[in-house]
This record gives sequence, structure tokens and C-alpha cells, in this order.
Amino acid sequence: MIILLKDKVNENQVKNLTNWLEGNGFGLHISKGQNHTIIGLIGDTSRVDMDLIASLDIVETVKRIQEPFKSANRKFHEDDSIVDCGNAKIGGGHFQIIAGPCSVENREQIISVAQAVKASGAGMLRGGAFKPRTSPYAFQGLHEKGLELLSEAKKATGLPIVTEIMEAAHLPLFEDVDVIQVGARNMQNFELLKELGQTRKTILLKRGLANTLEELLMSAEYIMAGGNNNVILCERGIRTFETYTRNTLDLSAVPVLRRLTHLPVVVDPSHGTGHAYLVKSMAMAATVAGADGLIIEVHNDPPHALCDGKQSLTPEQFDELAKGIQNVLPFAVR
Ligand code: PEP
Ligand code: MN
Repeated sequence: MIILLKDKVNENQVKNLTNWLEGNGFGLHISKGQNHTIIGLIGDTSRVDMDLIASLDIVETVKRIQEPFKSANRKFHEDDSIVDCGNAKIGGGHFQIIAGPCSVENREQIISVAQAVKASGAGMLRGGAFKPRTSPYAFQGLHEKGLELLSEAKKATGLPIVTEIMEAAHLPLFEDVDVIQVGARNMQNFELLKELGQTRKTILLKRGLANTLEELLMSAEYIMAGGNNNVILCERGIRTFETYTRNTLDLSAVPVLRRLTHLPVVVDPSHGTGHAYLVKSMAMAATVAGADGLIIEVHNDPPHALCDGKQSLTPEQFDELAKGIQNVLPFAVR
């Protein structure tokens, strides 16, 4: 971090600032020019409040030269992280397809979809039990019953289960869940992230609808700061002015994140596009772009799905997609 001081500052003020910085454990590299003084901070600046320093009378500007995320940063952890998801692994060459319905609706539905996606090569089963819906009148999920049905599907197929949490108080219900999803709408629910940081559960953290990749990484940092390094990032599309697609799937997020972080990155082309006909091509593109996995919505009867039927694949369409992924995986840019 570099602090540029205003011209004509008095020595006392500079001394106060440097004493304070040294008192906070930083090494200082001070360079005095003809008009300006520049202070270089040496040490872990991830905890420094940049705005506070910038607001000081004698400070002209403050510039970070290192990213504000530390645990998630590839600079301090060169190798890809491999994250455990029940009996599956993701990252570092372990590619996973997570598939299943948007919401768990009933026993027959979740078991039949679980069996079908497993037969096509999915390594994990998804299904929402607590659903974050825009309308309070829309189907909100089966809650505890939904989690029980997911456990039954896990028993029946051996697939690890992935499902969304909406509040920390529900954590005791998630004991049998292998991967806890934090949805786009909760990406910056910092109290929830802190609670999840206290667990050692694997967390699938989805990018918020209008969040930058740095904000996504800072949210991962919240979880990791608590000691939980089992984090998977998910690109699921962001809000733009485009209306033909539900969101704009930012596939450049994959190589950007892979450069910045060692955490596995998965792509959700279902929410990223909102249309079943776009899911296969975007899934293949995400795979070639270097994603560590995909999360795909699959429903036994999409026209009658209680949530997100329009973007859900039939088991047959999913089978086609899974074959396409196997074909392009050798061409993935890593
Ligand atoms: C979901 O995965 O069903 C979901 C609600 O996703 P998102 O949080 O990305 O909208
Ligand atoms: Mn959905």
C-alpha cells in the first residue's frame, strides 16, 4: 500500500502518522521527493482501513498494490485448492457436474432426477429446500421436509447433496448436507458468512446479482477468515441491460478468478441465461474457459416445475449436455 502525502505537510504531522503506522506493526519505506512524500507500507495490509487513512488531513491519496483478500489469494497459495464435497472432490483437476431441480418438490421427483443425473455422470445432486423467491406468494420450498427428501435421495444414489441456506439459525438442519450453497442474494450477508466460517462445511458461494469479482472474493474471505477454507465460487450471471437472457453470464469471470484465487470456480448457466436452450452451449463454453465444475438445473417435468422450469433441462437434455462436456473437457484452458 502506498500513501502519497500532500505537499507542504509539517514534519510533526508526518511523524504522528509514521509512528501510528509503525505502532500497527508495519514496516515503512519513506521516499521524500521535491514536493511530495510517499510512504510505502510493508506487511499484511489486508486489515488496513484505506478510507480512514485517505481521510487524514495530510494525505493526498492511498493506493493498494496488493489485493485486499489474503486467504483466497493465489499469491499466497499457488496450487489449486481441492475441496471435499462428501465423497466427491472439486478443484485441481477434479471436475464436477452438480445437477438437480431448482427446488425439491416431492419424493418421486427428487429421487427420479437424482437417479437420472447420476446415470448421466453428475457427481453431486442439487435441490433447493429454502428458496429465495422475489415474490412472497411464490413457492418458498419444502423447508425441513425438503432437506429430508434430499437425504433420502443421497441414500438412494450415493450422490453428495448441495442446497441453499438462507439464515444461520437453520444450520443445525444442514448436518447431512455436503455442500451448503449461499445464494446470489445472500452473497453479502456478512453475518451469515461469518457463521459459516465457524463451521467446516463446504460452502458454494454464488456471485451476487450486481457484485464485482473482488466483492465475491471478499465474501469468500469472510468465510475463510473464520478458518473454513472449504469454499467454492460460483459465477451465475449478473444484471445488465440485456433482456433476452435472465442474467448476463460473465464467462470471463472464470479465467479472472482462476488467476486471482486458488479456490475452485463453478459456473451456473441455468440462472446465468434463464433459458433451457442456452444451457448446453454455455456449459461447454464455461468448461473450455477452465471452470472446475458446473451447476445445472434438471427437472423431470420442466413445464410443471414449481420454480425455474423455463431454464430447467429434462433428464434427456442433461444427458446430452454431460456428453458434450466430456467431449470438450480435454480442450479446457487451464
Ligand atoms: C438457485 O441456485 O436455485 C438460486 C436461487 O440461485 P441464485 O442464488 O444464483 O439466484
Ligand atoms: Mn433456480
